Amino acid sequence: MTTPLLEVDNVFKTYALPREKLREPPPKVHALNGVSFTIEPGRSLGIVGESGSGKSTLARLAMALDTPDSGRIRVLGRDLHTLSKEALRLARRDFQMVFQDPYGSLDPRMRIERVVTEPLAAQGGVTRDEMHARAAEVLEAVGLRRNDLGKYPHEFSGGQRQRVAIARALITRPRLIVADEPVSALDVSVQAQVLNLMQDLQANFGITYMLISHDLAVVHHLCEDVAVLWQGRIVEQGPPERLFRAAEHPYTRTLIDAVPEIAPP
Ligand code: ADP
Ligand code: MG
Repeated sequence: MTTPLLEVDNVFKTYALPREKLREPPPKVHALNGVSFTIEPGRSLGIVGESGSGKSTLARLAMALDTPDSGRIRVLGRDLHTLSKEALRLARRDFQMVFQDPYGSLDPRMRIERVVTEPLAAQGGVTRDEMHARAAEVLEAVGLRRNDLGKYPHEFSGGQRQRVAIARALITRPRLIVADEPVSALDVSVQAQVLNLMQDLQANFGITYMLISHDLAVVHHLCEDVAVLWQGRIVEQGPPERLFRAAEHPYTRTLIDAVPEIAPP
């Protein structure tokens, strides 16, 4: 049996809101209420749900950018929240993230070479020459040119910036990429190009995704499995074709009705 890439086991997460009354405890938001799922190598999982359903919280926890209140998160069998700082830093090689906002997620003062090599530099032990070669390699893998290494983020369109963000995620040769609404901020015509690129990377580099979207049509492209998140819980999970054909939860039906172009007649 292969080790799962990601195991999320009964994860809860609350956020404390600003206190309304001095003598009362601060109100809490229950962002995740007992979420469990597994991502096996080669079986990309789509997470769909409306705004506020807990998708980004789940992404942050899976990337160890935040900690759960309870429950376990394992990447390739390692419990992220019990690793030492040093072990976590090295484990990050295996899982990388792509964020929604192609404008906000790239530091405008850094040249593209520095932007894309950052996760590799954080791993340490790589020479400058090797970093340069790897940067050129990933840039070409996402359909940009090695000449682009010397440019700044503002010289690129939104779609190209998202390609840069994907190149940065690829540079450590990860097994899993967590992408939080990676095409939501892009024009519809550009969305398809970026999704096609992500699909090519699955085949060419053996990447498996946890792909977050509010749009069932987007995950249908890339994912073998879809989990529907609703108020911090997974209410339904299965292959996208099954969900389209026979969704059980009324909320899933609402999502399907939002994409009439691929819903069955
Ligand atoms: P989604 O990505 O599906 O829109 P989020 O994970 O961002 O959902 O948010 C889930 C819930 O948690 C929402 O009610 C949101 O307001 C709340 N939330 C998220 N992050 C924070 C935070 N840092 N502080 C307080 N509340 C938060
Ligand atoms: Mg979000």
